Amino acid sequence: MQNALLTRALTRDGSAMIVAADTTAIVRAAGEIHTLSKTMTAALGRALTAASMMGSLLKEENQSVTLRFCGDGPGGTICCVSDWRGNVRGYADNPEAELPPNARGKLDVGGVVGKGPMHVLRDLGLDQPYVGVAPIVSGEIAEDVTNYFASSEQTPSVCSLGVLVNRDLTCRAAGGFLVQLLPFADEETVGAIERNIAQIEPASTMVNNGLTPQDMIARVFDGIEFDLLDEYAVGYVCTCSRERYGRALMSLGRKELEKLLHEGEPVETCCSFCGKKYTFELPEIEQMLQSAK
Ligand SMILES: [Zn+2]
Repeated sequence: MQNALLTRALTRDGSAMIVAADTTAIVRAAGEIHTLSKTMTAALGRALTAASMMGSLLKEENQSVTLRFCGDGPGGTICCVSDWRGNVRGYADNPEAELPPNARGKLDVGGVVGKGPMHVLRDLGLDQPYVGVAPIVSGEIAEDVTNYFASSEQTPSVCSLGVLVNRDLTCRAAGGFLVQLLPFADEETVGAIERNIAQIEPASTMVNNGLTPQDMIARVFDGIEFDLLDEYAVGYVCTCSRERYGRALMSLGRKELEKLLHEGEPVETCCSFCGKKYTFELPEIEQMLQSAK
């Protein structure tokens, strides 16, 4: 399978930066892990794309960003986590949720997501993560991310996301871009970017037509001088491990561990992000209890 690709660029006058990504491979991987309906493929796929691009804006290794939509739609909570490069993982509470197409005949992503808060949590390796919150404005994800940056972080941004889903529920094409204005952005440059964005096709159409992230950037920055910063492969990557789940079990404390032992069954955990199962046998629980004492 081809890798997903993420590219970043900056206008030469320092007015705006852009991240563009072809996340088809990531959304396909998500579809293989989770049993996603057509509309939930689009919903989770858009959220994964947004999280990946937001992750690529982190400055240092070991930092991560969590994007969580807590809408009241049938899809339930959608949660995506990206590392500092844009390697991402995610899940939805109800991956098989489905709704009829909306009034415009499109997948009703706004409907499956619903209304409620959305959270952005950045773990920058400090004592406390940075947490931002904004209301979900449409549930279409891109609009919500754009609104989040404007209202919660005072960063004028434009986010565009798209996922095309095949009849057999596999992802046909997915991608997006995220433009952010930098302080003291030049008005002419901003005007040119706005005119370009108003004219270009949806991100999923561009990816489906074979445009690379670089091509997308050239469209958004058409007529503007810019420099490519970097381009690299990203993927659907889970960071779970047996050790991590072991530590989580330990952190339940003595009382809970005693209860588990008493129940007499091995403890089976399952990672919501990748579906991997980790089984802890009773002697291991016993050992945990000993070291918790
Ligand atoms: Zn996992």
